[in-house]
Amino acid sequence: MNESDADYLTQGMTAAGFTAVPDLDQADIAILVTCSVRQNAEQKAYGRFRELKAWKRARPGRAVAMTGCMANKEKDRLYDRLPDLDYRFDMRQYEAFIQDLQGEYETDPAQTGGAVLQHGLTAYVPAIFGCNEVCSFCIVPFVRGIERSRPLDDVVEDVRRFARQGVREVTLLGQTINSYRDPERGARLAELLEAVERVPGIWRVRFLTSHPRHVHDDLLFAIRDLPRVCEHLHLPFQSGDDAILKQMRRRYTIEEYRAIIAHARSLVVDLSVSTDVIVGYPGETEEQFQRTLDLLEEIKFDVVHIQGFSPRPRTTAARQADDVSPVEKKRRINVLLDAQRRIAEAANRRWLGRTVEVLVERVEDGEFSGRTRQNKVVLGAAPLGADVGTVRLVHVEQATAWQLKGQALN
Ligand code: SF4
Repeated sequence: MNESDADYLTQGMTAAGFTAVPDLDQADIAILVTCSVRQNAEQKAYGRFRELKAWKRARPGRAVAMTGCMANKEKDRLYDRLPDLDYRFDMRQYEAFIQDLQGEYETDPAQTGGAVLQHGLTAYVPAIFGCNEVCSFCIVPFVRGIERSRPLDDVVEDVRRFARQGVREVTLLGQTINSYRDPERGARLAELLEAVERVPGIWRVRFLTSHPRHVHDDLLFAIRDLPRVCEHLHLPFQSGDDAILKQMRRRYTIEEYRAIIAHARSLVVDLSVSTDVIVGYPGETEEQFQRTLDLLEEIKFDVVHIQGFSPRPRTTAARQADDVSPVEKKRRINVLLDAQRRIAEAANRRWLGRTVEVLVERVEDGEFSGRTRQNKVVLGAAPLGADVGTVRLVHVEQATAWQLKGQALN
């Protein structure tokens, strides 16, 4: 979401007459798009700000702005804490921020207005802002607000614009993307995916992040039947223990989660599944942690993102004692990582000898790299014509936990 925020900000500022420069030394304004999902993300933002102080003082007229979740959480207290901060704004009002800046800087929209920003092959497009869930550990609803789906036509229009700029793969974003509801016509995510995949130039469509409570058949049929929608589902389970899940207010049981995955896999051939896990939630016992490990072994996810519990202000979980020590959290993370390395390698070995479709993202020194529809990284010797942005068929010859290697076919 933060990458997407930075992207929209850059697009908006470019249209207003500002120019994005690759080197900070050439810049007049630096904007930090911050995250507050974990304590160390905030520490990083403060660290980056400290670095920017020297940059700002080196030339009069330079300014630093902050936005994103940490800026929303801290509000105007940030100005007291960081006297060198010039602007703080909410991404929900980023257009007003840009207008204010236009009043202070001499910009000429005629020079850059409508300029095509150099985009990569992929772009993130928000479809929902905020979240209506009430997970006990999560700060997002406090800093991003309640759920607001964007009109389907607006999302499709953004995708069209990106496609004109050379984007070939879009990822639709939302904290709970699968609860998308077009505010005008009531269309759900499946219909949005269908509308987006019809945009000329778009070859692949993905979506992030799904909540287990809203995985319905229309979505699974869309993944199965729409040719440009990739066979990948990111479905956080967070804990393998029902009592912890209840405390987390995730509002599903492990049995229900299992059933969703089994059903999705029965409908969508070669579906890749990734997930998020938290270890060391307040009161998590060794036995409860083992259930998380058991679920990893049982479901065999393609990718697992593992985090140690980090108490966030205003959340219910922050009122409980953070009683699993940092050392123990680290140990639990490492146990899961070790298991996942083995599981991912076995999962990737399933692709040996098969032919996969790869969107080429990089060609360098005679080698290409790209990703399959299941989001697996593939490397190999680049044949003639394997240009960035082309789709190639690749015969898979090697598999490790993190990538596949193969021979591109003519
Ligand atoms: S669904 Fe995700 S974003 Fe929403 S409260 Fe739960 S963890 Fe946070």
